[in-house]
Amino acid sequence: MSTDKPSGVDTYNATIERIETVADGLSIFFIRPDTPIPGRLPGHYVSIGLVGPDGKKLIRRPYSLSQSLGPAADPDLLELLIIRVPEGDLTPILFDQNEGDRLFVRPKMVGTYLLPKLDADMTLILASTGTGVAPHMTMLETCVDACKQVVMMECVRYSTELAYAEQIRQFQQTHPNLVYISLVTREGGAKRYIQDYFRDGILEKEHGVSIAPETTHVFACGNPAMIGIPKEDRKTGALSYDTSDGLVEILATRYGLTIHKPRQPGQIHFEKYW
Ligand SMILES: Cc1cc2nc3c(=O)[nH]c(=O)nc-3n(C[C@H](O)[C@H](O)[C@H](O)COP(=O)(O)OP(=O)(O)OC[C@H]3O[C@@H](n4cnc5c(N)ncnc54)[C@H](O)[C@@H]3O)c2cc1C
Repeated sequence: MSTDKPSGVDTYNATIERIETVADGLSIFFIRPDTPIPGRLPGHYVSIGLVGPDGKKLIRRPYSLSQSLGPAADPDLLELLIIRVPEGDLTPILFDQNEGDRLFVRPKMVGTYLLPKLDADMTLILASTGTGVAPHMTMLETCVDACKQVVMMECVRYSTELAYAEQIRQFQQTHPNLVYISLVTREGGAKRYIQDYFRDGILEKEHGVSIAPETTHVFACGNPAMIGIPKEDRKTGALSYDTSDGLVEILATRYGLTIHKPRQPGQIHFEKYW
């Protein structure tokens, strides 16, 4: 009888059902757990894992759930938009997998990047960099139905990385309360970043979006430099910012929005990916 310890492969409990290539090193993985995972809410993430180079240890990372628009999504299938980080531990192995291959999925929906109670006077702004658009795709339909206005903003390096742009533009045709702003930073021309739209008042001037703590919630997901998460003085509650010109600072100082916390509801919600 073998005395070897069980390897990570023994924990595999899901199958990669389909892989859609969006661009070089950017794919949508559709994963079917052997047993459906209950309790899913817009904004949740899951952890997935694959065995690393030692053939035993499981390398696990969290990934936001995403959701394509269109015909009703299969609620048991997990859709993940993932970029390959060449120097990373998990993603190079993940991108070597094929449809039908097995992997581990932690059987739990997790996260606090969740929607507040929505109402018809609300403006919801969903701002992302790179794959940070994923959780916003799970929120989009709910928000557009419930809120006065939804502003979906995404910033990527190349336009081929706008994984859901076509779907969003089509959806916009039947949902006039949706504003869609896609920004590309590495294809020449004048560069505009998400923060510019808030700092320079472009959202108000060019898109008629007014921002006020009473009616607006902003969700920001992806690169920590875009979000600019402050440190908070425990005693005074004063905020200090290491990254200058991040979104949180602009929203707090220019518009008077506050950071959302479970016991102190605010209007700024963020999820940083690293
Ligand atoms: C709550 C949460 C949700 C996440 N959801 C997603 C998601 O939906 N899609 C996704 O691709 N990643 C997502 N990530 C990041 C993911 O967990 C991994 O960190 C990433 O895939 C890199 O894993 P790795 O093992 O290959 O690299 P690691 O060895 O973990 O190296 C990490 C380095 O990779 C870079 N990096 C990490 N994530 C990204 C990214 N998305 N884009 C560009 N550079 C990155 C950073 O420089 C970071 O220091 C999420 C992270 C968190 C905390």
